[in-house]
Amino acid sequence: MLIILVGPPAAGKGTQAGKLVEYLNIPHISTGDILRQSIKDKTSLGEAALLYINKGELVPDEVITAAVKERLSQRDCKNGALLDGYPRTIRQAEALEEFAPPDVVLDIDADRENLLKRVTGRRVCDKCGLSFHIDNLKGQNCRCGGNLYIRDDDTAEVFETRLDNYQRLTLPLKQYYLKRGKLRTVSGEGTRDEVFERIIKALKD
Ligand code: ADP
Repeated sequence: MLIILVGPPAAGKGTQAGKLVEYLNIPHISTGDILRQSIKDKTSLGEAALLYINKGELVPDEVITAAVKERLSQRDCKNGALLDGYPRTIRQAEALEEFAPPDVVLDIDADRENLLKRVTGRRVCDKCGLSFHIDNLKGQNCRCGGNLYIRDDDTAEVFETRLDNYQRLTLPLKQYYLKRGKLRTVSGEGTRDEVFERIIKALKD
């Protein structure tokens, strides 16, 4: 089963994706994580991504589509995967239809105020990639021992660009998948567990 997660920046996609892949036992493919890792590893994909990511702009469709296609062709994806952060434009959705049409598209929604609060308080583990909000942090480190850092694009200013791009380029995807009967929208407000329960229910409907 191929599941897609869509939703505005910092709606909690990464957090919910982590829980969902454990529940369904499929790999979690986050394009944001792939790009951040490529930047760290200084690969050619990372070099291309660096020009866009810290400004809050999207990397070109062909670049990200090639990376996703390659990742989905790996053995661990043969029973499905959870795609988080792709597709993000209609062109990407059309490309995906050609090589791996999704079964369900989960849309996690939250309002602007909440998103801004989440993005400016977000801390990410440099080892396992989990993210936390400063209000819920118990110590200086992640449970796994990794160090917590602030993503370069998690500033109020870059957030505006990301949200603007989301509304302009990614929102039309909802209509695209609604027409195909694949869209399930859940509210991203409330605790992690509340949101997760909504997701499980939406998947069963
Ligand atoms: P968020 O959902 O919080 O904005 P992500 O970690 O999913 O964060 O993505 C971070 C950045 O990576 C995006 O702002 C964009 O520059 C780039 N990116 C990730 N996925 C895609 C994609 N499908 N198409 C283009 N750019 C992408």
